[in-house]
Amino acid sequence: MAEGNWHAADIDRVIVGEDQIRDKVDELAKQVAADYATADSVLLVGVLKGAVMFMADFARALGRHGPPVEMEFMAVSSYGQGTTSSGVVRILKDLDSDIAGRHVIVVEDIVDSGLTLSWLMKYLQSRRAASVEVVALLRKPDAVKVTVPVKYVGFDIPNEFVVGYGLDYSERYREVPYVGVLRKSVYAQS
Ligand code: 5GP
Ligand code: MG
Ligand code: MG
Repeated sequence: MAEGNWHAADIDRVIVGEDQIRDKVDELAKQVAADYATADSVLLVGVLKGAVMFMADFARALGRHGPPVEMEFMAVSSYGQGTTSSGVVRILKDLDSDIAGRHVIVVEDIVDSGLTLSWLMKYLQSRRAASVEVVALLRKPDAVKVTVPVKYVGFDIPNEFVVGYGLDYSERYREVPYVGVLRKSVYAQS
């Protein structure tokens, strides 16, 4: 999978391959389509930048299974200490439209501590959405300690730093088409 690409040398091992991602995105879209069969539409809220690839593929999968979709994006930054997020969130890019009465599905790349997400869910509920659920492609073990209800999860992965399919290290590797563990030597050299 990683062979023949510049990034292969930086990836320790593939955690979720391209085919697995494609199948899972379709499976998640079928679940959502069944759960929202009676809804006029759902509003997908993608969390920039990590969720862009998943958002694009998930929206197209819903295009095959229904219901009709609208897309919004938010960018948030959590004030953290070092690598841990604190749960105090600053909005860098807000919603463009009123979400009152809408069925909102937050589209996330990965849930780790879940602090950012639990803040975001409260925020969206305070904007009087009819419902707010979350679809996350990846979930790390720590996420189970937090009470944030992530209804749709693609893959439970080990507690390692992963990149690819939207996920970055220092803004790189987002275009890598699979999810893989970054080699430790990559952090060491920068
Ligand atoms: P938390 O759930 O801890 O509030 O934050 C989740 C965010 O941290 C994700 O949206 C992502 O931006 C970042 N993050 C958490 N784990 C990883 C990882 O393994 N790799 C990358 N690239 N980002 C991660
Ligand atoms: Mg994210
Ligand atoms: Mg990042």
